[in-house]
Amino acid sequence: IDCRSGAATSTGLLSDIHTPICTESFESVYEITGELGRGKFAVVKRCVEKASGKVFAAKFLKKRRRGRDCRAEVIHEMAVLEMTRNNARVVNLHGAYETDHDIVLVLEYAAGGEIFDHCISDELLPEAQITRLIRQTLEGVQYLHQSSLVHLDLKPQNILLTSLTPVGDIKIVDFGLARRLGAVGELREILGTPEYVAPEILNYEPITTATDLWSVGVIAYMLVTGESPFVGDDKQETYLNVSQVNVDYSRETFSRVSELSVDFIRKLLVKAPEDRPSAAECMSHPWLWQQPPCFSPDPSCDTEDKENVLESPHFKRFRLEDDG
Ligand code: ADP
Ligand code: MG
Repeated sequence: IDCRSGAATSTGLLSDIHTPICTESFESVYEITGELGRGKFAVVKRCVEKASGKVFAAKFLKKRRRGRDCRAEVIHEMAVLEMTRNNARVVNLHGAYETDHDIVLVLEYAAGGEIFDHCISDELLPEAQITRLIRQTLEGVQYLHQSSLVHLDLKPQNILLTSLTPVGDIKIVDFGLARRLGAVGELREILGTPEYVAPEILNYEPITTATDLWSVGVIAYMLVTGESPFVGDDKQETYLNVSQVNVDYSRETFSRVSELSVDFIRKLLVKAPEDRPSAAECMSHPWLWQQPPCFSPDPSCDTEDKENVLESPHFKRFRLEDDG
């Protein structure tokens, strides 16, 4: 499945922007100090505003892709960022520049990198941190949905952190595939990465806000287990796993976290979009609000276990957070 082709003919691209696209040289205003990420049609570089010394992330988007003018897509991405300007969970657009080949979006810098780095088996976060990050992600998603926007590319590479130690707050980035709902009829598109997209996208069925909630389920699964729930040996196998909702919920896979996490994820990784909870409904799930295990009196937790827990680094970390 190819990601970004055909987008120009699809409905719902926004064209109304207020941020001026400066034609003065980007390099005269900013000094580039490194590379932060790279996609098919974009490079993101760390840069310092010379006048203020402030750090930003500059996303260089190709104006022409596969010999086609894609300026409209870039303008659309800017328009979406402008619509979400008031929400702290979405990265802020600081300015825009135009060079010979690119349009450069100057974005708020998220210094903590991708939450993808916390989806790797031996570097997983404590459960209380994971639930905090999922709550923040849901706040951002709820804001988008209230604005009739769907992100359609939510994945651990597109959820960034403001700082790494201590683990900061999330910032949602990459609105290249985001769409406005209900503008011009029904939205159906083939896009995104099969591993992270909902069955309705693979089946070319109508897209709704529920499509993003599937992705939240995938992200929660990855933060909790360190594994991608649907990835197969090839695209076909992944496709099949997604459309059959073939997920491993075994106790071994979820050994380090509470049963409530399984319940939360199970409610989101549901084939029928209409059966998934909304972002607002997810926010009231008990998993997201539970206390770290065994810190409140729990009769099912015997004294010996409790002492082991008290010695564990996880417990000490939770305590520090409680006290702070
Ligand atoms: P693409 O459309 O190519 O996926 P993204 O907007 O997702 O482009 O950016 C690619 C990568 O660059 C991200 O996954 C992230 O690692 C990094 N990145 C993007 N925006 C920022 C930012 N504001 N601060 C820090 N890093 C960023
Ligand atoms: Mg991306």
